Amino acid sequence: MASTPAVSSGVATVDVLAALPVPADLSDAQRDGHICVWGGESLTPATAIDLGPRRVDGEMASPRACKADVSRAAQEALYAHVKDIERCTGTETCGTCRGLYRVIRLGQR
Ligand SMILES: [Zn+2]
Repeated sequence: MASTPAVSSGVATVDVLAALPVPADLSDAQRDGHICVWGGESLTPATAIDLGPRRVDGEMASPRACKADVSRAAQEALYAHVKDIERCTGTETCGTCRGLYRVIRLGQR
C-alpha cells in the first residue's frame, strides 16, 4: 500500500497558475504571451511566467505575466480563497493555500 506523505505540497504550481483569473479584454500581444497579461510590460524568458493555455473571451490564448504581477494575482486569489471558509481548511493544511503561497513566493524571487 502506498503511503501518503504527512505534509502535502498542495495544489501543483501549474494548476495554481492556470486557475488565476486574467482580464477578459486582452490585446493580441497579451493573448499571445508577448507582454504581461496584467501590466502590459514586455517579457523576457527570465521574467515571464507561463499561465497556461486557456480560453479567454471565446478565443484560445497563451497568457504570460511578469513575476511581480503573478505574485500580486496569487495574493488576491489567496485573500478571496481564505474568505471562503466553506472551501478552506486553514493555511497549514489547505492544498489551495499551499499552492497559492508557493506561487506568491515564485514572484518574489
Ligand atoms: Zn485554503
